[in-house]
Amino acid sequence: MAACAETDPEMFFPEKGGSNGRLAKSVCREVCQVREACLQDALDTADVEWGVRGGLSPRERRALLDRPRRLGVQKVSRVRVAELTLAGLSAVEIAVQLRTTGRTVARVRAELRDAA
Ligand code: SF4
Repeated sequence: MAACAETDPEMFFPEKGGSNGRLAKSVCREVCQVREACLQDALDTADVEWGVRGGLSPRERRALLDRPRRLGVQKVSRVRVAELTLAGLSAVEIAVQLRTTGRTVARVRAELRDAA
């Protein structure tokens, strides 16, 4: 259950510089049973203007959204990794091009080697 539904809603829309933001965040983090889904929904809908959601302030949610997204191993194109490897690029160079991590590229390369 959403813990904020049982508290003062004003607490979740604190004045700038007030202490209520901290209280709302602690309710989210320590009591709420749907925090993860709440935060995911806030990020999915780019709700970064007002109030505490999922234990984060609007500024903290904006920072999360602004972080460059990194593709996980399941979403990285095996074909592109193979092509770029054959072209002589390093794992880090491939990672930059495919918006993933060097570690993910290494895992995909290992997969490709095992499958060969
Ligand atoms: S995590 Fe979301 S649903 Fe839960 S108390 Fe905080 S704002 Fe409410």
